[in-house]
Amino acid sequence: FLQGRTALVTGSTSGIGLAIAQALAAAGARVAINGLGTAEQVDAALASVTATGSESRHFGADLRNPAEIEAMMAAVQDWGALDVLVNCAGIQHAAPLAEQPAHKWDDIIAINLSAAFHTMQQALPGMAGRGYGRVVNIASVHGLVASKNKAPYVASKFGIVGLSKVAALEYAAAGSRDSGGVTVNCVCPGWVETPLIEPQIQAHRNGGSRDDGVRALLEEKQPSLRMSLPEDIAAMVVWLCRREAHNLTGTALPMDGAWTAQ
Ligand code: NAD
Repeated sequence: FLQGRTALVTGSTSGIGLAIAQALAAAGARVAINGLGTAEQVDAALASVTATGSESRHFGADLRNPAEIEAMMAAVQDWGALDVLVNCAGIQHAAPLAEQPAHKWDDIIAINLSAAFHTMQQALPGMAGRGYGRVVNIASVHGLVASKNKAPYVASKFGIVGLSKVAALEYAAAGSRDSGGVTVNCVCPGWVETPLIEPQIQAHRNGGSRDDGVRALLEEKQPSLRMSLPEDIAAMVVWLCRREAHNLTGTALPMDGAWTAQ
């Protein structure tokens, strides 16, 4: 159902973003991918997205740099009018507030929050003009509740939830049910098996195995005691792109094994 549509997924050389790029391509979209990595990693990511039969290109931009984001958005929109924007790039650094290095604060806010402001600013007017657009921002349960040792991450994720609500309000009346409208939502995952959380798994091993580390992480916060897989998050993003989701906007949807139900 996304045939003829163009999507950009930031942070799609790894983890959740890569699964989202693959799923959007499988639904028919041509997908611009973005993210850091070696030439081999980027090639492997591109190959896995084009394996679905859809077209894909890598648009390299370090999202800490607004000038690079602007250049990336111009290049992507030259390639195709942007219908779907998924802001997924993100980093984490766990440490007590008093010990968080200032440069970690700057990088986390830049990548997890400010980059989405810049991409949305450049994508949303075109979406409104064409009557269809989907912005899905990958926030986190940490956009809804806090945890210790994650001051910049939690601040960035609460920020992107707020940013998304403002954009949803401003674009709520764009388009129609027939054209699909313009929606802006956050998806708020709990624990998802990706390289991002590996340091936290290792920190919870307490001398045991990696599985012991995973179990300890889950027992602390996620009542389902199951990790999500990147493709679980991707399936929700694809569904949000459907026309039937035209009135689902301005929300922050948890997929967190009841973490935030407590
Ligand atoms: P990941 O480390 O597997 O992927 C992160 C992606 O962001 C990579 O493609 C990386 O290259 C890209 N990236 C990092 N810095 C960048 C920069 N400066 N410029 C451009 N790209 C950059 O992590 P993931 O777990 O897939 O995380 C994806 C998103 O999901 C993040 O926003 C994260 O906060 C969020 N999230 C993850 C979990 C989890 O448990 N894994 C839970 C909730 C939310």
